[in-house]
Amino acid sequence: MDVLVIGGGHAGVEAALAAARLGVEVVLVTLRRDAIGRMSCNPAIGGIGKGHLVREVDALGGEMARNADATALQFRRLNTRKGPAVRATRAQCDRKRYEARLQRVVGSLPGLRVIEGEVRALLARHGEVAGARLADGTDVEARCVVLTTGTFLDGLLHFGDDTRPGGRLGEPPSRGLSASLRALGFPVGRLKTGTPPRLLASSLDYDEMTLQPDDPSAGPFSLWPSGESLPRRPCHITHTNEDTHAVIRANLHRAPLFTGRIQGRGPRYCPSIEDKVVRFAHHDRHRVFIEPEGLDSDEVYPNGLSTSLPQDVQVAYVRTIPGLRRAEVTRPGYAVEYDFVDPREVGPDLQARRVRGLYLAGQVLGTTGYEEAAALGLLAGANAALRARGEPPVTLTRADAYLGVMVDDLVTRGVTEPYRMFTSRAEFRLHLREDNAHERLGPVAERVGLLGEAERASLEARRQRIERATEALARIRVSPAQAAAVGLALALPREGRTLLDLLRRPEIGLEALAPLDPTGAVQALAPGEREALTLRVRFEGYLEHARREVERFHKAEAVALPEDLDYDRIAGLSLEVRERLSSLRPATLGAASRLEGVTPAALAALILAVSDRGRSDAA
Ligand code: FAD
Repeated sequence: MDVLVIGGGHAGVEAALAAARLGVEVVLVTLRRDAIGRMSCNPAIGGIGKGHLVREVDALGGEMARNADATALQFRRLNTRKGPAVRATRAQCDRKRYEARLQRVVGSLPGLRVIEGEVRALLARHGEVAGARLADGTDVEARCVVLTTGTFLDGLLHFGDDTRPGGRLGEPPSRGLSASLRALGFPVGRLKTGTPPRLLASSLDYDEMTLQPDDPSAGPFSLWPSGESLPRRPCHITHTNEDTHAVIRANLHRAPLFTGRIQGRGPRYCPSIEDKVVRFAHHDRHRVFIEPEGLDSDEVYPNGLSTSLPQDVQVAYVRTIPGLRRAEVTRPGYAVEYDFVDPREVGPDLQARRVRGLYLAGQVLGTTGYEEAAALGLLAGANAALRARGEPPVTLTRADAYLGVMVDDLVTRGVTEPYRMFTSRAEFRLHLREDNAHERLGPVAERVGLLGEAERASLEARRQRIERATEALARIRVSPAQAAAVGLALALPREGRTLLDLLRRPEIGLEALAPLDPTGAVQALAPGEREALTLRVRFEGYLEHARREVERFHKAEAVALPEDLDYDRIAGLSLEVRERLSSLRPATLGAASRLEGVTPAALAALILAVSDRGRSDAA
């Protein structure tokens, strides 16, 4: 068999689908068939930084965007008052329908077979992966393996002072595989993440909370939606208060996070409520979003109340919050601690250096979040399939995609806490927007074969629509009388202005200009295309500057550092930098520049060494 994917979470599903779409034979082994695509935490996809990843997954032919669109209960557009780079889309989804639809997609792809089982060990010979051994003793042979075991490796669940083995609530951990990874020489560490209690929807008083309705102008994520959709549902907003914080403070001695029972590091940016109360003691309240779990579900997700305090404390503090004073807790919040592999063990193609043919993706590689897992899984699955076909891998740089930023951060810097995506991580964020994900990555997906015929055609049609509309806007000049005739009261010079000039004014949108375009090109644009075109016109100067920065970046990336470069012989490097470069072996000068401790002086020494070597090789 060509590719064996271990794990049916967000990373595993995208890995298996990408590999199968590339035409190789794929087996997905997972602990429970009926848990494929399960959302372990809140049923929401996207958000700031994460929405960008979802669009990139779509552009690379993945399923997450389409699945979220088909099962969304609410769409929101975030950061609309901020610059175009940080605007993002978020969807609240129906948990059960999300996983059920994903399971149908997995089951419908020829060349992809699912085995329900537990992998206990990896098989490797002479530094190459050979397959995996299941708990029942069966060996599954494979040319490439993608490991995506999420929070399951030696997973430990914490409910206050009660600790139980588990991968997530109701599911046992994976035992043995972590030891197998260690035996192969992989450095394995410990991380943790947490989730809030779930509440009975009918026990809440919604009148005491603020309504947050669906935004009909937001979404979809996918350029190729399936046509399926669900009725929309609102979320609600409430806040903690001094009473809530007093209950939490009085019980900190029972919080495993503070008693030292939890050893693993949690995500600093997604803290538990007890963490927030201690770290942000000067805040007298914290926001809580009450989010529906599904159309037919009587549970809600109180986003912002993640905790590992004991259940009686959870009930007590929840009931101090407006709207939640009669709340019934249906499932307790908890924290999970699990093993992960140091991401510096893999290269930019997500292949492990010490065991060739083995790829890692998702939470097991130190990330947190469905979107991060899906994007990494897609890349790992595609590269495993390409390797099985004897073809070169796909790699993305920091200037290509958020996925490129994430891979580069992981493989060059490693992690000290679960890694989640933020727009601030991307230095080229004006270039890496949600609206241009398909332009950025479509050509890569087409070249590798990740897009079907219909997707390729629609991508080309979109490109042409935007081009035609831009041409029309630049060509058509309107007089003051013509503008007035369509209700635009503007002080225009007698010779008029082009539609493109008018679009540069923040108060005039494409909708208002469409009647002035007799070609119909503007009218023909879809809402997402209108937004993309408007951004490009209004931020032209900034985008041009961003493009020049990207070009400079590509120049540094183009300076290759030879695989066998002897860093011990390069003068001017500190011992620490020398050791780091020797062990991580960055592929380019750009990658070296992002390693911790690599100063401008160290870079200058590297440039000198590479050019000296180039000269002596040429002589
Ligand atoms: P998972 O979704 O964990 O899937 C792992 C898969 O591997 C499962 O299908 C499992 O059956 C399978 N598997 C494991 N071991 C084996 C084996 N030996 N053999 C075969 N199959 C195996 N993310 C956020 O962004 N914010 C949060 O606040 C947040 N909180 C979380 C709280 C909790 C309690 C948990 C559990 C997760 C939380 N997450 C959160 C993380 C989010 O759920 C994960 O990042 C995401 O699900 C990771 O996807 P994955 O595919 O890497 O792994």
